[in-house]
Amino acid sequence: MEDTCHVCGEPLDEIYPVSCISCGSRVHFRTAVSAENDCCRILTQLSLCGLAFICNTCDQHTTSP
Ligand SMILES: [Zn+2]
Ligand SMILES: [Zn+2]
Repeated sequence: MEDTCHVCGEPLDEIYPVSCISCGSRVHFRTAVSAENDCCRILTQLSLCGLAFICNTCDQHTTSP
């Protein structure tokens, strides 16, 4: 089963994929490499028990009116 990242379009095979809390798409989470090149970022929400992620696509929609 092959999946591709919703943000960069590269395969999600060896990198641990996470699901965007907004659109549900699976994206890379590779903050260990470079936060600037990451396909998503961590959201911390008190209503959730744990970490949530938002993909760069949704992040841009929410930050720019
Ligand atoms: Zn990606
Ligand atoms: Zn998203």
